[in-house]
Amino acid sequence: MSSISASSLAGALLRKEVLDLHAYHVPDSSGYIKLDAMENPYLVPPGLRGEIAEAVAAAAINRYPDPTAASLKEKIRAVTGLPKAMEILLGNGSDELIQLLAMAVNKPGAVLLSVEPSFVMYKMIATFTGMRYVGVPLITNIGAADFSLDMPATLAAIRREKPALVFLAYPNNPTGNLFPAEAVAQIIQASPGLVVVDEAYYAFASDSFIPHLASYPNLLVMRTFSKLGMAGLRLGFLAGSAAWLGQLEKLRLPYNVGVLPQVVAEILLAHHEVLLQQAEQIKRDRTKLYEQLSEIAAVKVYPSEANFLLFRVADANTVFNGLKQRGVLIKNLNGHPMLENCLRVTVGTPDENARFIAALQETIIQSA
Ligand code: PMP
Repeated sequence: MSSISASSLAGALLRKEVLDLHAYHVPDSSGYIKLDAMENPYLVPPGLRGEIAEAVAAAAINRYPDPTAASLKEKIRAVTGLPKAMEILLGNGSDELIQLLAMAVNKPGAVLLSVEPSFVMYKMIATFTGMRYVGVPLITNIGAADFSLDMPATLAAIRREKPALVFLAYPNNPTGNLFPAEAVAQIIQASPGLVVVDEAYYAFASDSFIPHLASYPNLLVMRTFSKLGMAGLRLGFLAGSAAWLGQLEKLRLPYNVGVLPQVVAEILLAHHEVLLQQAEQIKRDRTKLYEQLSEIAAVKVYPSEANFLLFRVADANTVFNGLKQRGVLIKNLNGHPMLENCLRVTVGTPDENARFIAALQETIIQSA
């Protein structure tokens, strides 16, 4: 045994899907203006931070958390306007819920379907849970409506693949657009399996499927509080009928949401209006940033209902590195076949946005 190296043992024991995976890459952002991960750039006001500090100090961290998180769920219900008949299942971020859903439906040969490009974890989780991933390309090269749903191709793929699970990000990441509600409804109706409308960016968008949960027996809505100012807490939820969530609950690890996230999220949700005001500010700044990017001739920016903007330049790697040298970190999407020379910038504070625009202009002038 001792003559075998750990790496050859790992190579022999681990599943091929795991060996072939690339880990989800999170770059070191220390010292940068951080506009790469769709975080809310604002902390909450000092008074509220004081309230949180007191509650954290008094929290029973020697005890396991309330596994039902009943009190937190009540707060979520209240701020979400969840229909009475619908239930909530909490996750350690919505990433965990994607994994839980994949584990739940993963019979041999089961398919997870989404669109391309979309949130990378759908494909990654399908791969490491052993599901087959099918990504239907969005339509490009149609100008203003780039990254639209290709309805004939999507409906044909649903008929052909009979996916057990469909994920639609509403609005979509990394493109930022909100697919038409009628098209999403058509996909839900055409799907033999479960459809999850992923509303990670709901706080910045003009529509939601939560009011329509009761209309479709195969619909669940997933949300996260990460983009609303709680990325560090790790809290997401699934909303849907008890028939689904009662079953999925069996797969949730009993203490997946810790004492501190429960305590802090409850306080923040009791002051939901503070977070909503921040989201409104971010939406106003998104409009301004969109206009500023539109004015730069070397940039093509795409419309967004999220807290980020996707844009295309002549040479994304040069622009990405030029911004980094000037202290601004955004996301380089060049590498995805449909996102050639595309970059994604999160809407920050007005000052951060101004510094991003200045750095971008400098970079473009220098590389021209
Ligand atoms: N869904 C979408 C569409 C996302 O963009 C993200 C985060 N980038 C998530 C889910 C996951 O969010 P979290 O795990 O922080 O809840």
